[in-house]
Amino acid sequence: MATNSVPTPTPKPVARDPCKFELKKYKTVFTCYVCMVESYDTERYRCNHCDRARHKCCIQLKDAIQLKPGPNLTFINGFTFTLKPKPHTAPDSRNQEWADYCIVCGMLIKHYSYYYRKDTDRKDVNMHPGCAALIGHDGEVKPRPYELQVKEKPNCVWCGKRRPQGAPWGAPADFFCWSYKLTDGKNNRIHVHCYSEMGIQALKSIVQSDDYVSGDGRINIILKRSQNHDENILDKILKEAIKTVLELAVDPTQIITSFID
Ligand SMILES: [Zn+2]
Ligand SMILES: [Zn+2]
Ligand SMILES: [Zn+2]
Ligand SMILES: [Zn+2]
Repeated sequence: MATNSVPTPTPKPVARDPCKFELKKYKTVFTCYVCMVESYDTERYRCNHCDRARHKCCIQLKDAIQLKPGPNLTFINGFTFTLKPKPHTAPDSRNQEWADYCIVCGMLIKHYSYYYRKDTDRKDVNMHPGCAALIGHDGEVKPRPYELQVKEKPNCVWCGKRRPQGAPWGAPADFFCWSYKLTDGKNNRIHVHCYSEMGIQALKSIVQSDDYVSGDGRINIILKRSQNHDENILDKILKEAIKTVLELAVDPTQIITSFID
């Protein structure tokens, strides 16, 4: 009888428990359960029951969005993009080979996509919800580290190439695979995708390293980039990212960046 009165341990939440997402700040990377994109966004929604996380912009996706004009006024005439559960390609599409890739970051879209059909030339345009938020739409604007641009030269300071690995080459350079314009006065650029890659690596490096804080209290961040590029530029981008985008409560002067190939 006594044993019957012993309370059972708190049961694991069952499926019918309602999910409750709370907006909080974290120091780790995550994969958004809505758009399936791995991301450095330190502020996001997370549910304690199922441990799933969502981008701020993915917590409640609109059925249709009106994009801001974007770089080169690409979307000047009020382009309305509609939400699709997967990137959409019409059967008569003239860009079948790259329609499933996000025009902003150039990466394959795994789940939700904002879609637009250019009827004049039968082209299907898809983009990640997070990338649409980078351009800005309606009330939604995701903070950007630098100005966005559509440009193919010079090569990206992170990957050392005109396009990041995984982005299709068939898509037009004046429209596809955008980058950030660095403020170094030298016309340098970093792909939107590569910037994200850098942020993700930085956060992983901080978390995974057991002794990331050295004896003098400085933090070591190890970045692996694909080409032997100017380390000073990348070091500067990372330190700005710590302040502006990753928003870590860390003094950027206390960061030591090391690079491995
Ligand atoms: Zn949940
Ligand atoms: Zn998302
Ligand atoms: Zn994208
Ligand atoms: Zn790149």
